[in-house]
Amino acid sequence: MRPDDDERDPKTSGLPPRHRVRAALAALRALYRKADAAYAPFSCPASGECCQLSVTRREPWLYLPEWLALMERTGGTVPPPRADGGCPFLDASGRRCSVYANRPFGCRTFFCARVRGPAREPIEQMAALSRQLRVLAESLAPDDAAPQPLSAWVARILI
Ligand code: SF4
Repeated sequence: MRPDDDERDPKTSGLPPRHRVRAALAALRALYRKADAAYAPFSCPASGECCQLSVTRREPWLYLPEWLALMERTGGTVPPPRADGGCPFLDASGRRCSVYANRPFGCRTFFCARVRGPAREPIEQMAALSRQLRVLAESLAPDDAAPQPLSAWVARILI
């Protein structure tokens, strides 16, 4: 047994040992870099409208490593719900993501009609990265490997 096999953070009890979480987050960051590189030729007006989840009636679905990356960014806290129904991770202006560097895979690939860039999105590459993300989640926590909507992850913290 490695020295830190039993190393656990009280905020994340019930999760895999912290050294495995760290390794999963490193792999996740590498995966996110590939997604960002694939979408680098694209841009949008950055209105934040896609983060108004109650308006769009869509929300990102996250695997456990993605949720842990968000919690790493916020120190394990979830901002309070927004009155406008937007994602709780929006900043006070309601236009900018407060966890941008750690935002989920779905937020890196969510496109609206106003996107500008090449005619064709890198669909096959994103499908391959999505499969890698699932494998990563399964390797970290086989019993908690299914993706869940952002609101469900938030509810798990707030219960
Ligand atoms: S995590 Fe960030 S990018 Fe994703 S919906 Fe929330 S505010 Fe928008």
